[in-house]
Amino acid sequence: MLQMKLCGDLILREHCDPVDDITPDILQNMDEMVKMMSEQNGVGLAAPQVGITKRFLVMMNPDSGEVFKMINPRIISRSDNMVVIEEGCLSVLGPDDLPVYANVTRPDSVVVEWTNTDGKQNTAEMSGIMARIVQHETDHLDGILFIDYLAPAKREMVMRKVRRRK
Ligand SMILES: [Zn+2]
Repeated sequence: MLQMKLCGDLILREHCDPVDDITPDILQNMDEMVKMMSEQNGVGLAAPQVGITKRFLVMMNPDSGEVFKMINPRIISRSDNMVVIEEGCLSVLGPDDLPVYANVTRPDSVVVEWTNTDGKQNTAEMSGIMARIVQHETDHLDGILFIDYLAPAKREMVMRKVRRRK
């Protein structure tokens, strides 16, 4: 049984290792992560959020419901055009046990490369909400949280809610 790691847990700050072998364990972890993600109404979950410091993640297109399981994902290009979108994270919860949301500015579209669960390589250009999700989730693999992009005062507002939960 995987356990959700919450803000303050140092595992969320680790730089994750590439996946060399797509083992049955990893596939099983990804299935369980998809389940956890949908149970908590999330649209993405990265391995370190469930205590695994390896480079894989799951995400869902909120419009179509399509699920992506990405191994060793890598953003290979980013648009110059930036957009503001509200983000939350299943690892950054407030006093009501629900994600705390904040506006984050990021590139509007990205090109991402990843390996599928069957070992095949994939490349896709993503924009809008999908670009947003994949940037947020790949950041987790490098120990970066969305709150790192916030201005200090805004970040402090978010952290105050996070601390109130404890
Ligand atoms: Zn997150």
